[in-house]
Amino acid sequence: MLGAMMQFPLTITPILERMEKLFGAVEIVSRLPDKSIHRSNYGDLCRRARAFAAALAAAGMKRGDRVATLMWNHAWHLEAYFGAPVAGCVAHTLNPRLNPDELAYIINHAGDRLLLVDDVMLPVYERVRDSAMLERVIVVPTTGRPVPPEYQPYAEFLQEGSSGYALPQLGEDEAAAMCYTSGTTGAPKGVLYSHRAIVLHSFCLSLPDCACLSQADCILPIVPMFHVNAWGCPFAAGMAGAKQVFPGPHLDAISLLDLFEQEKVTRSAGVPTIWMGLLDALDRHPGRWKLEAGLRVLSGGAALPEHLIRGFDRHGIEVRQAWGMTEMTPLGTVCHVKSSLSERPAPERLAIRAKQGLPAPFVEVRAVVGQREVPWDGETPGELQVRGPWIAASYYNLPGEQERWTADGWLLTGDIATIDPEGYVKIADRAKDLIKSGGEWISSVDLENALMGHPAVREAAVIAIPHRKWGERPLAAVVLKDGYEANAEDLRSHLAQRFSRWQLPDAVVFVEEIPRTSVGKFRKSKLREMFAGWEWDQTADGAA
Ligand code: ADP
Repeated sequence: MLGAMMQFPLTITPILERMEKLFGAVEIVSRLPDKSIHRSNYGDLCRRARAFAAALAAAGMKRGDRVATLMWNHAWHLEAYFGAPVAGCVAHTLNPRLNPDELAYIINHAGDRLLLVDDVMLPVYERVRDSAMLERVIVVPTTGRPVPPEYQPYAEFLQEGSSGYALPQLGEDEAAAMCYTSGTTGAPKGVLYSHRAIVLHSFCLSLPDCACLSQADCILPIVPMFHVNAWGCPFAAGMAGAKQVFPGPHLDAISLLDLFEQEKVTRSAGVPTIWMGLLDALDRHPGRWKLEAGLRVLSGGAALPEHLIRGFDRHGIEVRQAWGMTEMTPLGTVCHVKSSLSERPAPERLAIRAKQGLPAPFVEVRAVVGQREVPWDGETPGELQVRGPWIAASYYNLPGEQERWTADGWLLTGDIATIDPEGYVKIADRAKDLIKSGGEWISSVDLENALMGHPAVREAAVIAIPHRKWGERPLAAVVLKDGYEANAEDLRSHLAQRFSRWQLPDAVVFVEEIPRTSVGKFRKSKLREMFAGWEWDQTADGAA
């Protein structure tokens, strides 16, 4: 027998209507390039998102047409997040840190028709102007400087919509947003998010054991709005009616902490390299910022080193690790210590918190070797596979790329993980980052986390270097903290407390910085290039 409930499509439109009916006065705060603060509210956001939707319709944008954005995190970007999907268009966020060839490839592959670019990003657009096939480019002024005459200003575009425009009735499976993978692993691929996926993801993200968003919260997504829709925070925050704060282009630790204090931020989200900077600033300036009690932040995108969790605990800030992917909207797992484990000794609880966490509701996980699922014993690694209602079933317009999905419909994540009997997922590595030495696997992530636990180490990344006898051996690239000293032997002795001798990096190389990807993760492919000619027998430290 069927349930007797209404068919009510899960689309972004009711979120917009809810924001305007219930939360009109809730603030949206944007820090502008000159560091001044722009204040608006949900009422303004909804009016302007509707005007944008009307203008898109007047410009001939049809259902499913892609509207690209090239912008920092600010209120105008949020207007596109809502305005494009409620018009039936697809908000395609572009990553400005990609090189011009990649950017032009993505614009053309996605078939973007119209681009909304803020004036700070205009030089990025101008580098692809001749190769990107866009029909219209509209400029959002955020610097106070006049829009160059060859472009249409956003305010003028907003006037073009009809005042009688009514939002279309959308189906929940229609596309709402789009994001290309950042290309850490090969050519960028487009992921097309449906309204339904975004709505369900918003429910899940808001849960107490996920990002824990309530109306009374104030969220500052540090993760760029071009990185998997700022991990879905703007949609979830809109549904909750929470205050949203956007940092604009100012992502240095001091500017961020000032904004946390000034706007009374209670929730945030970003990658570990951001948290490393924030922790460093908090340690160097004790008592400088008065942050909200109960401040809780999500860390995702790369493994969260244990020392960061401990460091933030010291400052009364709870950092929770999440794992996900562009292909997963992006939430997959979030870590919290279950109530049944809350009496475990502190080091054990810390070790749990350093895992990637429990699968979010409706996200199914399994670790597989060959065709067989490995047991949830916390020891046997396998490739992590996932499925669920906000996980991509294919890439956009790449029919040849189906090998990322199993015949029975699971997404191959490319991550190697163990799952313990409690259900905690621990990512050992990306498959291609694992170090295979003498037939045994060494987790680069575990070595990095332990290295970053040394008091003198600011950052560390470990890569595999080919080795004649062992196949591969680990090399650690390390950045020391200012004013600290340590040599390779100090760091190896530190690691030897936790690792067997054969797992220790044979070489520790001190570098000025670890190269970053466009979304702030360590770029190991670049490190591998830097050390491509490494000869073990020529190292001062000697090979295994
Ligand atoms: P890219 O693949 O280009 O870096 P994504 O942002 O989609 O773009 O990256 C997803 C990948 O990031 C995951 O497959 C995983 O390897 C890594 N990742 C994400 N979150 C975590 C985490 N908490 N711990 C370890 N790795 C993570």
